[in-house]
Amino acid sequence: MDDEIADELVRTIRTWVRREVLPTASELEHKDTYPVKFVDQMKAFGLFGARIAPEYGGLGLDVPTYARLIEELSYGWMSLAGVLNTHMIVANLIGRFGTGDQKQRWLPEMATGQRRAAFSLSEPDAGSDTKSLRCRAVYDGDTYRISGTKMWVTNGERAGIVALAARTAEGVTCFLVDKEPGPAYGGITVSRHIGKLGYKGIETVEMAYSDHRVPVSAVLGGESGLGRGLQFILGSLELGRINVAARALGVARAALDSAMTYAQERRTFGVPIFEHQAIAFKLADMATKVEASRLLVRSAAERFERGERADVEAGMAKLFASETALEVATEAMRILGGYGYTTEFPVERYFRDAPLMILGEGTNEIQHMVIARGLLKRWNEEGGEREGFGSS
Ligand SMILES: Cc1cc2nc3c(=O)[nH]c(=O)nc-3n(C[C@H](O)[C@H](O)[C@H](O)COP(=O)(O)OP(=O)(O)OC[C@H]3O[C@@H](n4cnc5c(N)ncnc54)[C@H](O)[C@@H]3O)c2cc1C
Repeated sequence: MDDEIADELVRTIRTWVRREVLPTASELEHKDTYPVKFVDQMKAFGLFGARIAPEYGGLGLDVPTYARLIEELSYGWMSLAGVLNTHMIVANLIGRFGTGDQKQRWLPEMATGQRRAAFSLSEPDAGSDTKSLRCRAVYDGDTYRISGTKMWVTNGERAGIVALAARTAEGVTCFLVDKEPGPAYGGITVSRHIGKLGYKGIETVEMAYSDHRVPVSAVLGGESGLGRGLQFILGSLELGRINVAARALGVARAALDSAMTYAQERRTFGVPIFEHQAIAFKLADMATKVEASRLLVRSAAERFERGERADVEAGMAKLFASETALEVATEAMRILGGYGYTTEFPVERYFRDAPLMILGEGTNEIQHMVIARGLLKRWNEEGGEREGFGSS
């Protein structure tokens, strides 16, 4: 995409976030209120079609621009980026692996946000360990019958399509499950709303499938997609990880800005607290890590955009940016002293939102495994030392 158009779009979202989102985000968050108005405005900006190709009505943004938009949204309220994340993972799955009919059927409605998407891999007993998935889809005439329990389905109740991983005779298969938004549809029931420390305003639910029938055309990629679900999904998680890293960067930046402002206003012992070296050095460390996170996110996004395998880079960006968000939010709270602990400043919200990023889209322990595995593979493939990741 043209750099100037990308910059203009990012500036527009930044201005909107500062004018509209920031003044009310904490209030909505404390009440756990779904941000209807913000979501409608995001639809009007075309953000639900951010990564969908123009031929299906989307904006067709490149991944670096998408990551910058996610960062800006999260600067205001991390949950807004969560509304988009599962949607974009599913759009990416369909765009990359869907049949022509599946693209025609789903992408135009998804691009406008009229139909929103949830992504459903995790189960009560299968998070990191995807080999333990139990949800089954049994072939029965010209349909599949799906049964099982899915956990942590973000946007699950409001979604009109769920990309669901289920076991079939061929292995794990990804199904595009049509549904109406709401607590029940066919054999699908939203069995529980999960209470959360942060990431409020949007729903994360448990969903039970009881002999829910879907047509064979729901298999992502058609017949050749049978048994290839995990391969498709793990490829798409790279984009999800870039999203989570960009979210973490947005939260970290917001926490740093709050701390910078406060450190120059708050006076103790006759001087602004920024004048105390203990505080200034904290801010120096925080700003350094935020900048490093930004560079890692950009590097991963650019690599993904080039169509190269970005598992290592996305893992590094997600690992570093999420640990940074947690650290910067905690340090910001220290800098604000007692006020940081109150609901009068947004720092307590950043402090509650930040830990999600160390867990979501694969925990950071799992990121270490992904990075280490990729490191070894590339090392051996390239016959020894290389200049650095993300550089080619
Ligand atoms: C708010 C929220 C929203 C979510 N939204 C979605 C969603 O929309 N769709 C979806 O599919 N999932 C979603 N998830 C699920 C999320 O991806 C999982 O929680 C995550 O992958 C971890 O799985 P788990 O919770 O089962 O933890 P477990 O896998 O049980 O892990 C527990 C601990 O053990 C560690 N561990 C596990 N295996 C290893 C190993 N081999 N080596 C070292 N350490 C290990 C983990 O790092 C963690 O510290 C969401 C989660 C949350 C909290």
